[in-house]
Amino acid sequence: AKETGKARCVVYSPAQAGPPQHDISLEAAMFQAVREGEFLLYYQPIVDAPTREIQGFETLMRWKHPTLGMVPPVRFIPIAEANGLINLLGAWALKAACVQLRQFEEVARRSLYISVNISPRQFRNDKFLDVLDDALAFSGLPGEQLVLEITEGTLMVDPVHAEAILTKMAERRARIAIDDFGTGYSSLAYLKRFPISVLKIDRAFIRDLPGSQKDGAICSTVLDLSRHLDLSVVAEGVETEEQMGWLNERGCQYIQGYLTGKPMPANVAMAALSESMHA
Ligand code: C2E
Ligand code: CA
Ligand code: CA
Ligand code: CA
Repeated sequence: AKETGKARCVVYSPAQAGPPQHDISLEAAMFQAVREGEFLLYYQPIVDAPTREIQGFETLMRWKHPTLGMVPPVRFIPIAEANGLINLLGAWALKAACVQLRQFEEVARRSLYISVNISPRQFRNDKFLDVLDDALAFSGLPGEQLVLEITEGTLMVDPVHAEAILTKMAERRARIAIDDFGTGYSSLAYLKRFPISVLKIDRAFIRDLPGSQKDGAICSTVLDLSRHLDLSVVAEGVETEEQMGWLNERGCQYIQGYLTGKPMPANVAMAALSESMHA
């Protein structure tokens, strides 16, 4: 088929990491996996730092292969991005996550938000706004309860196009989060230019807290910056009480990490929500 031929080209390109033979079989398995429904969504809690109450969830894709087991997203997302399958998978994830949030809210009996990763190729796709509208209309979720996570790289490829799309997203009241903040192109000008609501500090800057002076300086600066620009901050990859305490003391409002909850299937997330309600 045409699609397979095109994708193989990408697989053989020198930029592709890993042994090509393996990637080809993984790629073939992905098309099969879509047909067999092997892709799942996990949800990781995002909590309020002072109270540790769950405010929302980040949607994280999982692939449960019958013999390979759980294939991590770092293996399959780049392949899906290269062959275009990410458009299909991403549209499904967005819609399913919006529907799932309504169920979470029923259990929690309060308003929560859902965060969904949008890959560069999805963001650039002509149909993306239709996909977004469809997810909101189908689920009945108000736009303000949806956060779309994009990276700095996604914005910088074509800033003029990015600005147009972001403005349309803002019209739908969906919020934009900059994922892996500080790890990509470090131009701060886009914070002024684009309608951004949330910065997510990458785990790379959190991991060595509170010991690392440099990481401490970077995180403090991001927290100050976001206060002045009226942005929310989520610290990613928080694993220890020391990290949590350090961030909370400096006014970081949202925490996401193994300390406060690993990515989990929807039914486990619902159990956590109903438990916290009766606590
Ligand atoms: P990300 O968007 O930066 O997501 C956060 C990653 O950090 C997740 O890895 C999460 O499981 C992991 N994480 C969270 N807390 C901790 C912690 O305390 N310690 C450690 N060591 N890790 C933590 P995951 O689920 O393996 O996803 C990896 C990447 O794959 C994501 O990074 C994102 O870029 C991509 N990805 C995942 N799901 C999707 C999706 O549905 N669509 C797209 N386009 N990309 C996705
Ligand atoms: Ca993310
Ligand atoms: Ca990311
Ligand atoms: Ca990250």
